[in-house]
Amino acid sequence: MTAQLIDGKAIAQQVREQVAAEVARRTAAGKSRPTLATVLVGDRVDSATYVRAKRKACEELGMGSVHHHLPADVSQEELEKLIKSLNRSKKVNGILVQLPLPAHLDEERILSLISIEKDVDGFSPLNIGRLAQKGREPLFVPCTPFGCIYLLEQSGVKIEGANAVVLGRSNIVGMPAALLLIGKNATVTVCHSRTRDLPGVVRQADILIAAIGKAEFVRGEWIKPGAAVIDVGINSKPDETKKSGYRLVGDVNFDEAKEVAGWITPVPGGVGPMTIAMLMKNTLRAAEIQQ
Ligand code: NDP
Repeated sequence: MTAQLIDGKAIAQQVREQVAAEVARRTAAGKSRPTLATVLVGDRVDSATYVRAKRKACEELGMGSVHHHLPADVSQEELEKLIKSLNRSKKVNGILVQLPLPAHLDEERILSLISIEKDVDGFSPLNIGRLAQKGREPLFVPCTPFGCIYLLEQSGVKIEGANAVVLGRSNIVGMPAALLLIGKNATVTVCHSRTRDLPGVVRQADILIAAIGKAEFVRGEWIKPGAAVIDVGINSKPDETKKSGYRLVGDVNFDEAKEVAGWITPVPGGVGPMTIAMLMKNTLRAAEIQQ
Protein backbone atom coordinates (compact mmCIF):
# COMPACT_ATOMS: atom_id res chain seq x y z
CA MET A 1 0.00 0.00 0.00
CA THR A 2 1.43 3.37 -0.99
CA ALA A 3 -1.45 5.60 0.09
CA GLN A 4 -1.71 7.18 3.50
CA LEU A 5 -4.94 6.01 5.13
CA ILE A 6 -7.22 8.85 6.24
CA ASP A 7 -8.72 7.60 9.49
CA GLY A 8 -12.19 9.18 9.55
CA LYS A 9 -13.10 7.39 12.75
CA ALA A 10 -10.19 8.95 14.66
CA ILE A 11 -10.67 12.41 13.12
CA ALA A 12 -14.43 12.30 13.85
CA GLN A 13 -13.64 11.33 17.44
CA GLN A 14 -11.39 14.41 17.79
CA VAL A 15 -14.20 16.64 16.47
CA ARG A 16 -16.66 15.05 18.90
CA GLU A 17 -14.27 15.59 21.82
CA GLN A 18 -13.80 19.25 20.89
CA VAL A 19 -17.57 19.73 20.66
CA ALA A 20 -18.17 17.91 23.98
CA ALA A 21 -15.54 20.09 25.71
CA GLU A 22 -17.15 23.28 24.36
CA VAL A 23 -20.63 22.10 25.37
CA ALA A 24 -19.33 21.37 28.89
CA ARG A 25 -17.75 24.86 29.04
CA ARG A 26 -21.03 26.46 27.96
CA THR A 27 -23.16 24.61 30.47
CA ALA A 28 -20.64 25.26 33.28
CA ALA A 29 -20.98 28.97 32.44
CA GLY A 30 -24.75 28.69 32.91
CA LYS A 31 -25.64 28.75 29.20
CA SER A 32 -28.29 26.48 27.73
CA ARG A 33 -27.43 23.04 26.33
CA PRO A 34 -27.30 23.06 22.53
CA THR A 35 -30.38 21.07 21.47
CA LEU A 36 -31.20 19.32 18.20
CA ALA A 37 -34.76 18.58 17.09
CA THR A 38 -35.01 15.51 14.84
CA VAL A 39 -38.04 14.99 12.62
CA LEU A 40 -38.69 11.52 11.21
CA VAL A 41 -41.63 10.89 8.89
CA GLY A 42 -42.72 7.29 8.29
CA ASP A 43 -41.10 3.98 9.15
CA ARG A 44 -38.09 3.58 6.88
CA VAL A 45 -35.68 1.39 8.82
CA ASP A 46 -32.55 3.13 7.47
CA SER A 47 -33.89 6.61 8.31
CA ALA A 48 -34.85 5.49 11.83
CA THR A 49 -31.31 4.10 12.32
CA TYR A 50 -29.70 7.38 11.20
CA VAL A 51 -31.94 9.44 13.49
CA ARG A 52 -31.18 7.14 16.44
CA ALA A 53 -27.43 7.54 15.82
CA LYS A 54 -27.79 11.35 15.69
CA ARG A 55 -29.73 11.46 18.94
CA LYS A 56 -27.24 9.10 20.61
CA ALA A 57 -24.39 11.41 19.55
CA CYS A 58 -26.23 14.39 21.13
CA GLU A 59 -26.47 12.48 24.37
CA GLU A 60 -22.83 11.39 24.32
CA LEU A 61 -21.65 14.97 23.74
CA GLY A 62 -23.81 16.48 26.48
CA MET A 63 -26.29 18.06 24.07
CA GLY A 64 -30.07 17.86 24.20
CA SER A 65 -32.33 16.30 21.60
CA VAL A 66 -36.07 16.29 21.04
CA HIS A 67 -37.59 13.82 18.65
CA HIS A 68 -40.74 14.06 16.55
CA HIS A 69 -41.91 10.90 14.78
CA LEU A 70 -44.78 11.51 12.37
CA PRO A 71 -46.81 8.90 10.48
CA ALA A 72 -45.95 8.25 6.81
CA ASP A 73 -49.27 9.78 5.71
CA VAL A 74 -48.82 13.05 7.62
CA SER A 75 -50.11 16.02 5.64
CA GLN A 76 -47.89 18.77 4.27
CA GLU A 77 -49.81 21.20 6.46
CA GLU A 78 -49.15 19.23 9.67
CA LEU A 79 -45.44 18.92 8.91
CA GLU A 80 -45.18 22.62 8.09
CA LYS A 81 -46.92 23.43 11.36
CA LEU A 82 -44.34 21.39 13.26
CA ILE A 83 -41.39 23.07 11.48
CA LYS A 84 -42.81 26.52 12.24
CA SER A 85 -43.25 25.67 15.91
CA LEU A 86 -39.66 24.34 16.07
CA ASN A 87 -38.47 27.56 14.41
CA ARG A 88 -40.15 29.53 17.22
CA SER A 89 -39.06 27.26 20.09
CA LYS A 90 -36.41 28.80 22.35
CA LYS A 91 -35.40 25.30 23.50
CA VAL A 92 -34.41 24.10 20.02
CA ASN A 93 -31.19 25.28 18.35
CA GLY A 94 -31.04 22.98 15.33
CA ILE A 95 -33.71 21.30 13.19
CA LEU A 96 -32.98 18.14 11.25
CA VAL A 97 -35.63 16.70 8.94
CA GLN A 98 -34.49 13.19 8.01
CA LEU A 99 -34.53 12.71 4.22
CA PRO A 100 -35.98 11.31 2.05
CA LEU A 101 -39.53 12.36 2.88
CA PRO A 102 -42.48 10.33 1.54
CA ALA A 103 -43.28 11.26 -2.08
CA HIS A 104 -46.52 13.14 -1.32
CA LEU A 105 -44.62 15.77 0.71
CA ASP A 106 -42.97 18.82 -0.87
CA GLU A 107 -39.40 18.35 0.37
CA GLU A 108 -38.08 21.59 -1.13
CA ARG A 109 -40.77 23.63 0.60
CA ILE A 110 -40.15 21.90 3.94
CA LEU A 111 -36.40 22.55 3.75
CA SER A 112 -36.97 26.18 2.79
CA LEU A 113 -39.22 26.66 5.85
CA ILE A 114 -36.45 25.77 8.32
CA SER A 115 -35.11 28.97 9.83
CA ILE A 116 -31.62 29.66 8.42
CA GLU A 117 -30.23 30.00 11.98
CA LYS A 118 -31.45 26.45 12.78
CA ASP A 119 -30.60 24.77 9.47
CA VAL A 120 -27.89 22.48 10.88
CA ASP A 121 -28.08 20.12 7.88
CA GLY A 122 -27.29 23.10 5.66
CA PHE A 123 -29.90 22.11 3.04
CA SER A 124 -32.06 25.24 3.10
CA PRO A 125 -31.93 27.04 -0.27
CA LEU A 126 -30.59 30.11 1.57
CA ASN A 127 -27.57 28.26 2.94
CA ILE A 128 -26.90 26.48 -0.36
CA GLY A 129 -27.32 29.80 -2.20
CA ARG A 130 -24.74 31.45 0.00
CA LEU A 131 -22.38 28.50 -0.50
CA ALA A 132 -22.69 29.03 -4.25
CA GLN A 133 -21.92 32.76 -4.17
CA LYS A 134 -18.45 34.21 -4.18
CA GLY A 135 -17.58 36.10 -1.02
CA ARG A 136 -20.66 34.88 0.88
CA GLU A 137 -20.60 32.41 3.73
CA PRO A 138 -23.38 29.94 4.54
CA LEU A 139 -24.32 29.77 8.22
CA PHE A 140 -24.06 25.98 7.98
CA VAL A 141 -22.31 23.67 5.55
CA PRO A 142 -24.01 20.33 4.69
CA CYS A 143 -22.51 17.72 7.00
CA THR A 144 -21.12 15.06 4.63
CA PRO A 145 -19.33 17.48 2.25
CA PHE A 146 -18.13 19.46 5.30
CA GLY A 147 -16.68 16.17 6.60
CA CYS A 148 -14.95 15.47 3.26
CA ILE A 149 -13.19 18.85 3.23
CA TYR A 150 -12.30 18.54 6.91
CA LEU A 151 -10.64 15.15 6.22
CA LEU A 152 -8.59 16.65 3.37
CA GLU A 153 -7.49 19.61 5.48
CA GLN A 154 -6.63 17.51 8.53
CA SER A 155 -4.56 15.21 6.32
CA GLY A 156 -2.53 18.13 4.96
CA VAL A 157 -3.83 17.83 1.37
CA LYS A 158 -3.39 21.13 -0.48
CA ILE A 159 -6.75 22.16 -1.94
CA GLU A 160 -5.86 25.58 -3.37
CA GLY A 161 -4.96 25.29 -7.04
CA ALA A 162 -5.56 21.52 -7.11
CA ASN A 163 -7.55 19.84 -9.89
CA ALA A 164 -10.52 18.34 -8.06
CA VAL A 165 -13.02 15.94 -9.59
CA VAL A 166 -16.35 15.26 -7.88
CA LEU A 167 -18.27 12.18 -9.00
CA GLY A 168 -21.98 12.82 -8.41
CA ARG A 169 -24.07 16.00 -8.38
CA SER A 170 -26.67 15.29 -5.69
CA ASN A 171 -27.99 18.13 -3.56
CA ILE A 172 -26.73 16.54 -0.37
CA VAL A 173 -23.20 15.43 -1.34
CA GLY A 174 -21.82 16.02 -4.84
CA MET A 175 -22.95 19.57 -5.56
CA PRO A 176 -22.17 21.10 -2.13
CA ALA A 177 -18.81 19.28 -2.10
CA ALA A 178 -17.98 20.87 -5.47
CA LEU A 179 -19.04 24.33 -4.22
CA LEU A 180 -16.89 23.96 -1.10
CA LEU A 181 -13.86 22.98 -3.19
CA ILE A 182 -14.39 26.00 -5.47
CA GLY A 183 -14.61 28.19 -2.36
CA LYS A 184 -11.23 26.79 -1.32
CA ASN A 185 -9.76 27.69 -4.71
CA ALA A 186 -9.60 24.25 -6.33
CA THR A 187 -10.37 23.90 -10.04
CA VAL A 188 -13.38 21.65 -10.03
CA THR A 189 -14.97 19.23 -12.52
CA VAL A 190 -18.32 17.71 -11.57
CA CYS A 191 -19.20 14.38 -13.19
CA HIS A 192 -22.56 12.61 -13.45
CA SER A 193 -24.27 9.78 -15.30
CA ARG A 194 -23.93 11.50 -18.69
CA THR A 195 -20.23 12.37 -18.36
CA ARG A 196 -18.13 11.07 -21.25
CA ASP A 197 -14.84 9.27 -20.64
CA LEU A 198 -15.07 9.18 -16.85
CA PRO A 199 -11.69 7.38 -16.46
CA GLY A 200 -10.03 10.13 -18.52
CA VAL A 201 -11.56 12.89 -16.37
CA VAL A 202 -10.71 11.11 -13.10
CA ARG A 203 -7.08 10.71 -14.23
CA GLN A 204 -6.71 14.52 -14.08
CA ALA A 205 -7.73 14.67 -10.42
CA ASP A 206 -5.32 15.66 -7.68
CA ILE A 207 -8.36 15.34 -5.40
CA LEU A 208 -11.18 12.89 -6.11
CA ILE A 209 -14.46 12.87 -4.20
CA ALA A 210 -16.58 9.87 -5.22
CA ALA A 211 -20.30 10.00 -4.36
CA ILE A 212 -22.27 7.99 -6.91
CA GLY A 213 -23.53 4.99 -4.94
CA LYS A 214 -21.98 2.30 -7.20
CA ALA A 215 -19.92 -0.39 -5.49
CA GLU A 216 -16.18 -0.26 -6.31
CA PHE A 217 -16.94 1.58 -9.56
CA VAL A 218 -13.72 3.66 -9.71
CA ARG A 219 -10.77 1.47 -10.68
CA GLY A 220 -7.19 1.87 -9.48
CA GLU A 221 -5.94 2.54 -13.03
CA TRP A 222 -8.18 5.65 -13.19
CA ILE A 223 -6.41 7.26 -10.24
CA LYS A 224 -3.61 9.77 -10.75
CA PRO A 225 -0.55 8.65 -8.77
CA GLY A 226 -0.39 10.56 -5.46
CA ALA A 227 -4.01 11.80 -5.62
CA ALA A 228 -6.18 12.24 -2.52
CA VAL A 229 -9.23 9.96 -2.74
CA ILE A 230 -12.28 10.63 -0.59
CA ASP A 231 -14.82 7.84 -0.95
CA VAL A 232 -18.31 8.85 0.18
CA GLY A 233 -20.12 5.80 -1.23
CA ILE A 234 -21.74 3.28 1.08
CA ASN A 235 -22.74 0.13 -0.77
CA SER A 236 -23.34 -3.41 0.41
CA LYS A 237 -21.60 -6.25 -1.40
CA PRO A 238 -22.42 -9.94 -0.93
CA ASP A 239 -19.81 -11.61 1.30
CA GLU A 240 -20.34 -15.18 2.51
CA THR A 241 -17.58 -14.87 5.12
CA LYS A 242 -19.73 -12.34 7.04
CA LYS A 243 -22.53 -13.36 9.37
CA SER A 244 -24.80 -10.77 7.76
CA GLY A 245 -23.96 -12.15 4.30
CA TYR A 246 -22.62 -8.80 3.08
CA ARG A 247 -19.99 -6.16 3.72
CA LEU A 248 -19.84 -2.43 3.09
CA VAL A 249 -17.72 -1.06 0.26
CA GLY A 250 -17.29 2.40 -1.22
CA ASP A 251 -17.59 3.75 -4.76
CA VAL A 252 -13.84 3.23 -5.24
CA ASN A 253 -12.09 -0.12 -5.58
CA PHE A 254 -10.06 0.34 -2.40
CA ASP A 255 -7.57 -2.51 -2.92
CA GLU A 256 -6.56 -1.18 -6.33
CA ALA A 257 -6.70 2.53 -5.50
CA LYS A 258 -4.59 2.29 -2.33
CA GLU A 259 -1.62 1.18 -4.45
CA VAL A 260 -1.74 4.37 -6.54
CA ALA A 261 -3.25 7.16 -4.44
CA GLY A 262 -1.37 9.43 -2.04
CA TRP A 263 -4.21 9.46 0.50
CA ILE A 264 -7.38 7.41 0.71
CA THR A 265 -10.39 7.03 2.99
CA PRO A 266 -11.58 3.50 3.82
CA VAL A 267 -15.22 2.36 3.78
CA PRO A 268 -16.37 1.95 6.47
CA GLY A 269 -14.39 4.25 8.78
CA GLY A 270 -13.74 7.14 6.40
CA VAL A 271 -16.37 9.75 5.55
CA GLY A 272 -19.21 7.92 7.35
CA PRO A 273 -18.26 8.85 10.94
CA MET A 274 -17.61 12.47 9.88
CA THR A 275 -21.23 13.16 8.94
CA ILE A 276 -22.60 12.94 12.47
CA ALA A 277 -19.51 14.64 13.95
CA MET A 278 -20.10 17.65 11.65
CA LEU A 279 -23.81 17.68 12.54
CA MET A 280 -22.81 17.99 16.20
CA LYS A 281 -20.39 20.80 15.32
CA ASN A 282 -23.17 22.57 13.39
CA THR A 283 -25.62 22.18 16.30
CA LEU A 284 -23.11 23.73 18.71
CA ARG A 285 -22.58 26.57 16.22
CA ALA A 286 -26.35 27.08 16.00
CA ALA A 287 -26.53 27.54 19.77
CA GLU A 288 -23.65 30.04 19.61
CA ILE A 289 -25.25 32.02 16.74
CA GLN A 290 -28.62 32.21 18.52
CA GLN A 291 -27.13 33.18 21.85
P1 NDP B 1 -27.63 10.14 -5.45
O1 NDP B 1 -28.18 8.85 -5.96
O2 NDP B 1 -28.55 11.22 -5.01
O3 NDP B 1 -26.68 10.75 -6.57
C1 NDP B 1 -25.80 9.96 -7.30
C2 NDP B 1 -25.03 10.80 -8.28
O4 NDP B 1 -24.12 9.95 -8.95
C3 NDP B 1 -25.91 11.44 -9.35
O5 NDP B 1 -25.50 12.75 -9.59
C4 NDP B 1 -25.70 10.57 -10.59
O6 NDP B 1 -25.76 11.25 -11.82
C5 NDP B 1 -24.27 10.10 -10.36
N1 NDP B 1 -24.03 8.81 -11.01
C6 NDP B 1 -24.75 7.68 -10.90
N2 NDP B 1 -24.22 6.72 -11.66
C7 NDP B 1 -23.14 7.25 -12.27
C8 NDP B 1 -22.20 6.76 -13.19
N3 NDP B 1 -22.24 5.50 -13.65
N4 NDP B 1 -21.22 7.58 -13.60
C9 NDP B 1 -21.15 8.85 -13.15
N5 NDP B 1 -22.02 9.38 -12.28
C10 NDP B 1 -23.01 8.59 -11.85
O7 NDP B 1 -26.63 9.72 -4.30
P2 NDP B 1 -26.09 10.53 -3.00
O8 NDP B 1 -25.28 11.70 -3.42
O9 NDP B 1 -27.17 10.71 -2.04
O10 NDP B 1 -25.11 9.41 -2.39
C11 NDP B 1 -23.98 8.93 -3.08
C12 NDP B 1 -23.33 7.83 -2.26
O11 NDP B 1 -22.88 8.39 -1.03
C13 NDP B 1 -24.27 6.68 -1.86
O12 NDP B 1 -23.52 5.47 -1.85
C14 NDP B 1 -24.70 7.04 -0.46
O13 NDP B 1 -25.04 5.89 0.30
C15 NDP B 1 -23.44 7.68 0.07
N6 NDP B 1 -23.66 8.64 1.15
C16 NDP B 1 -22.85 8.55 2.23
C17 NDP B 1 -22.97 9.42 3.28
C18 NDP B 1 -22.03 9.32 4.43
O14 NDP B 1 -22.32 9.82 5.50
N7 NDP B 1 -20.85 8.73 4.24
C19 NDP B 1 -24.02 10.46 3.30
C20 NDP B 1 -24.79 10.53 2.08
C21 NDP B 1 -24.61 9.63 1.05
P3 NDP B 1 -27.12 11.97 -12.37
O15 NDP B 1 -27.23 13.24 -11.59
O16 NDP B 1 -26.83 12.18 -13.80
O17 NDP B 1 -28.24 11.01 -12.10
